[in-house]
Amino acid sequence: MARKHNKPDPLMPVYRRFDVAFERGEGAYLFDVKGARYLDFASGIAVTALGHSHPHLVKALNEQGAKLWHTSNLFQIPLQEKLAERLTEATFADNVFFTNSGVEAIECALKLARKYHHAKGDEKRYRVITFINAFHGRSLAAIAASGKEKLIRGFGPMPDWFDFVPFIDIDALKTVIGDETAAILIEPVQGEGGILPAKKEQLQRLREIADEHGLLLIFDEIQCGMGRSGKLFAHEWAGVTPDIMAVAKGIGGGFPIGACLARASVGEALSAGSHGTTYGGNPLAMAVGNAVLDVILEEGFLDHVQEITKTLMTGLNKLKQRYPGLITDVRGLGLMIGVECSVKIRPLIARGLELGLVLTPSGENILRLLPPLIIEDSHISEALEKLDRIFAEVKLKRARTKG
Ligand SMILES: *Cc1c(COP(=O)(O)O)cnc(C)c1O
Repeated sequence: MARKHNKPDPLMPVYRRFDVAFERGEGAYLFDVKGARYLDFASGIAVTALGHSHPHLVKALNEQGAKLWHTSNLFQIPLQEKLAERLTEATFADNVFFTNSGVEAIECALKLARKYHHAKGDEKRYRVITFINAFHGRSLAAIAASGKEKLIRGFGPMPDWFDFVPFIDIDALKTVIGDETAAILIEPVQGEGGILPAKKEQLQRLREIADEHGLLLIFDEIQCGMGRSGKLFAHEWAGVTPDIMAVAKGIGGGFPIGACLARASVGEALSAGSHGTTYGGNPLAMAVGNAVLDVILEEGFLDHVQEITKTLMTGLNKLKQRYPGLITDVRGLGLMIGVECSVKIRPLIARGLELGLVLTPSGENILRLLPPLIIEDSHISEALEKLDRIFAEVKLKRARTKG
């Protein structure tokens, strides 16, 4: 939007936004203020997992919206208990703390790791091992956990209780474990780091190492969880469970919800007054969270995600064959897919918007595909056609500049 002269932008300039404003959404489609239609293969970065305006979610939000929004965690919140019960039933966890965002779930996980060791009389354990190129959110602790220059520049000095190892270098990891190590924090699929799924054996090794050394294993499933991988949580593919898990994004389907899940022995290290939140788990959020879970846990839903993933991957691999040297890799887990390119992808994303396809970047040269989990074959054909056109144009342009 054009701005008046000498009037400063009322928003802090932390985003370089694409030139489009969406006005409404329906299923896998978004519509801009001019009425143009876009196929949404970004889902607001893995958030609108059930697409836009899902009738079951809209109904839950409207009904609760007319009844009660917020009370405070000083009082009973039956919908919160219900969602916690359902999440613990479906996972390794025994208890849940609800937040409003991913980073708060990470913060809770990190605090919990310390409190757990403290409660065991092992206060000296406070350090956390994380992985290079990780992303855990934007709080001071979370940017310190990523260690990425781009995230931390100008915000130092950083908390210095993280130890970094390459994703996933088990030998390097063993060398940094010490008496002060409390936990290992990892994304089972690195999201911002380039859509890198951890191998099954690597997650299994991490579990073994954590057990050997009395460390807590924390999974950040904020992006890869809630059905995106084709299972409710990505770690289920590896057959290992964490001690603590951070969840957000898809769990609210667009309503800001996060959650920190833990085993009983870990979660019970907290006590009344030791942690808290004003908004977290309020009735409005919990009504939507329960509605999202209704859909994801419906029989056949995750099977659909697995099936449709195969169709999309087959199509993308064909595209890769058609554009060798331009598409250098296609990888991912479930509907969290990275298409690595040998060119900068920002212009490709801009072109996608012109053609009515919404994509999101991961780094400088990886197209990140995060379609809603409800997509059908027709959406995949449409996306592949548009991607084909984008790559054909890039190829042509390249040939011209070379010739
Ligand atoms: C998005 C994300 C976060 C941060 O979540 P916010 O809701 O933005 O605070 C943390 N970890 C991962 C893996 C993410 O994808």
